[in-house]
Amino acid sequence: MTSGLAALEARLAEELAFLQLPAARWTPARAHDEESVVDVAIVGAGMTGLALAAALVQRGVSVVAYDEALAGLEGPWATTARMETLRSPKHLAGPALGIPSLTFRAWFEAQFGRAAWDALDKIPRLQWMEYLRWYRRVLALPVRNGHRVTDIVPRQDGLVELRLEADGRTMRAWARRVVVATGRAGLGGPALPAFAEALPPARWAHSSDDNDYAALAGLRVGVVGAGASAMDSAATALEAGAAHVHLLVRRTDLPRVNKGKGAGNPGFVAGYALLPDRWKWRIRHYINVQQVPPPRNSTQRVSRHANAHFHLGVTIESIAERDGALAVRTSAGPITLDFLIFATGFKVDWRQRPMLRRIAPWIRTWSDRYTPPPGEEDAELAESPDLGAAFEFQPRAGMRCPGLERVHCLSYPATLSLGVITGDIPAISEGALQLADKLAGLLYAEDIELHFARMEAYAEPEILGDEWVAEPLPSSPITR
Ligand SMILES: Cc1cc2nc3c(=O)[nH]c(=O)nc-3n(C[C@H](O)[C@H](O)[C@H](O)COP(=O)(O)OP(=O)(O)OC[C@H]3O[C@@H](n4cnc5c(N)ncnc54)[C@H](O)[C@@H]3O)c2cc1C
Repeated sequence: MTSGLAALEARLAEELAFLQLPAARWTPARAHDEESVVDVAIVGAGMTGLALAAALVQRGVSVVAYDEALAGLEGPWATTARMETLRSPKHLAGPALGIPSLTFRAWFEAQFGRAAWDALDKIPRLQWMEYLRWYRRVLALPVRNGHRVTDIVPRQDGLVELRLEADGRTMRAWARRVVVATGRAGLGGPALPAFAEALPPARWAHSSDDNDYAALAGLRVGVVGAGASAMDSAATALEAGAAHVHLLVRRTDLPRVNKGKGAGNPGFVAGYALLPDRWKWRIRHYINVQQVPPPRNSTQRVSRHANAHFHLGVTIESIAERDGALAVRTSAGPITLDFLIFATGFKVDWRQRPMLRRIAPWIRTWSDRYTPPPGEEDAELAESPDLGAAFEFQPRAGMRCPGLERVHCLSYPATLSLGVITGDIPAISEGALQLADKLAGLLYAEDIELHFARMEAYAEPEILGDEWVAEPLPSSPITR
């Protein structure tokens, strides 16, 4: 009898067979400079890159996903994330692409049983990473780890060239389409207040940095922000033995309601991309202004420490290094800190993404063509790429960048154009499936002459000619 994961994997194989997946490869094999050309290259093999690779494999399209991280360490989960559990509820189907045996729940129950599932509150962070490793393994996804994409070069001839670094060597690869699936900070990096970068580097970090929290033992730590990452950073500092942690929060109250979660229904997922600009902007701006509350368990993980201090309605006015510490002047008075963590989120910032430097000047952003109504100005939204129907970058008005339309984006900054299908767990399958369909469709349409010729050459008979006997028409009229 097989049990546990082996049984699940057998069931998954059967479900895939029932669905006739994956489809056989139907795109033509191509070569350039004697190197094979892949149909789709994905930059990033985090959850999004994996889900998209799986959806493309299902559609019989050749794909390679490159990730600079070591195998099993893609994305934030086992590296820079510091929460104990996922922020999302456990029931979400995540990257399962509609296949029950590919869900986290199936994977969890196969190993720990139904009672353990019922008892589980939220998914432990590292367990989610283990699940993603299994997902990749069981689907045998074509991922190349340790490969950093350093340049994306669209060309006139229907190919996109990728320049890569791996094992200290530089190399090139060619694809017909490229998808940028580089995550939350995917088109930029940390969003930092202007004064942060003027501070001595040893005295501050962004919440997404690979910061050594053990070094904060005994120190007075400030955390700027009040979102989930602020709580995770504060809790990690407290658990590492920080003397005090001060949360410096500009708002006078913590956001309490997750409006984006409340909006989540299949209509929102499927219909958002069809909305006119003004509605897209209005929805995303409203969610930005309302802000996403930190999870309750993450907030309690901080507040259970007596040396955690929540300061609301506080704006930082200036910071200077003085007598071996940070003298911070705030709207509520001065405070002395040893170390500051900016849990201030991410922004689109092409300079922070060298691989995009070549195409960035051509890429149209929302600020290039949309002016929000007064009162709805939003710098984050303004910098978002203005993507086309196939999630492709589009050139600025009056500019030509041949091949840019072969570079597609499925990462968080695409959310204003596409909705919530761009990388978070709740709708990542929809994003991957939609984009995979669009890419398969584009690949087909581009090769229509070949596919038509294949149809003409196709000669497998359905009937053999021995199923009937042809008769001449009778000489007298048929009266019956
Ligand atoms: C701390 C944290 C907690 C989160 N928790 C949740 C949650 O609970 N629920 C939820 O729905 N969402 C959550 N998110 C948001 C989102 O789901 C995650 O960011 C998720 O990892 C997105 O998956 P992704 O594949 O799009 O990006 P990532 O997982 O970030 O993967 C991107 C990959 O691209 C690779 N890469 C980047 N640049 C290059 C390059 N030039 N060459 C090669 N590879 C490159 C990186 O190495 C990385 O592995 C969280 C985000 C963070 C940061």
